[in-house]
Amino acid sequence: MSIFSKIANGEIPSYKCAEDERFYAFLDINPVALGHTLVIPRQEVDYIFDLDNRTLADLHVFAKRVALALREAVPCTKVGMAVLGLEVPHAHIHLIPLQSEGDMDFRKEKLHLQPEEMQAVADKIYAAFKKL
Ligand code: AMP
Repeated sequence: MSIFSKIANGEIPSYKCAEDERFYAFLDINPVALGHTLVIPRQEVDYIFDLDNRTLADLHVFAKRVALALREAVPCTKVGMAVLGLEVPHAHIHLIPLQSEGDMDFRKEKLHLQPEEMQAVADKIYAAFKKL
């Protein structure tokens, strides 16, 4: 089972931002920006473009709702979206609150946030998601 499957089913802790029966969203543990969120299908597929069309489309619709919640929780110009998948072999979308182009730079030094800060932003996103 992938590490992200274990996160989605609660075997490994995460800062949960949103969930439904098929998808799960949680904070990236090494964020490039405050509120950096990962959105995954519960279905375990490595490469995002190996997902069947319906799951791929629905993943994006779910990510849209997470992005709307994220923008309420973390004021930003827009929420950027990226797919890398070079590290973890379980399809995922990165959602990143943007103020400038540099906020999407995955090579820059990651933020070092306290657990309480991570929990607080995850709780805000979760609350906003539930209202949408
Ligand atoms: P990539 O597969 O290249 O898209 O990168 C995987 C991302 O998952 C990285 O940004 C990691 O910081 C993040 N990540 C890896 N393990 C965890 C974890 N246990 N909880 C949250 N994020 C994680």
